Amino acid sequence: MSGSAVRSARVGPAPRPRRRPVIVIEDVRRSYQVTADLAVHALDGVSLRIDTGDFVAIMGSSGSGKSTLMNILGCLDLPSAGRYLLDGVDIRDMDEDEQSDLRNRKIGFIFQAFNLVPRTSALANVELPLSYAGVTRADRRRRATAALEAVGMGARLDHLPSELSGGQQQRVAVARAIVTNPSLILADEPTGNLDSRSTVDVLRIFEDLNAEGRTVVLITHENDVAERARRTIRLADGRIISDVATGAGALGTAGEAA
Ligand code: ADP
Ligand code: MG
Repeated sequence: MSGSAVRSARVGPAPRPRRRPVIVIEDVRRSYQVTADLAVHALDGVSLRIDTGDFVAIMGSSGSGKSTLMNILGCLDLPSAGRYLLDGVDIRDMDEDEQSDLRNRKIGFIFQAFNLVPRTSALANVELPLSYAGVTRADRRRRATAALEAVGMGARLDHLPSELSGGQQQRVAVARAIVTNPSLILADEPTGNLDSRSTVDVLRIFEDLNAEGRTVVLITHENDVAERARRTIRLADGRIISDVATGAGALGTAGEAA
């Protein structure tokens, strides 16, 4: 394994790596009604099971449905049809408050465009998810500092996003995603705007998060990024066209692949 850039003990106890399904989707469809007589079938019958501790890359060309799938997995969007069980609970049985509570507690999101709040320090950006969770100010500061230290940004707490490189901004975004100690990390093209050096840094953080037992779902269209994952799912036209174990040997985690 890599030299553990992430020290979980300082962010919080890592979830137990016992393997059980965290995500089960069955024949999920999502269509967008573009005009009265034109519907786009962004997901056209996708079934999938992801276990706790999996590290899954989702690949596919632009428009194949990757972001639509991630938005559904993250409860940011609902399927038009089909079932989604998150940790065994059917998300249709939850109201919007329960869904957003679940998002805040269990899921860390990372996007291609970083989505940091401008003119706000790295520390304040990372504290933000904790203010929703009713954490005291002192605790927020302590946990956000620990998360930033865990991604190697401990010396940049007071920097504004505009004062950071792309790779540094993405590390702040990763700190923000993990500060709530989520068991599931969903990342949509997280290295799409990064140079190769920063890509390696960010991928190493994902590997470390996964080594701690967190489930990681990483959307990418880059083969070398997908090679870090232990399982690669390919989408085309809103359907799964392949689902194979990958990368395990290269990472020295053979035997763990799904
Ligand atoms: P990917 O992330 O793989 O590039 P998306 O999931 O973003 O693909 O999109 C899948 C398909 O759904 C594309 O054809 C896209 O144009 C369409 N689509 C996505 N979002 C919308 C939307 N809000 N309204 C209409 N069509 C959409
Ligand atoms: Mg996309």
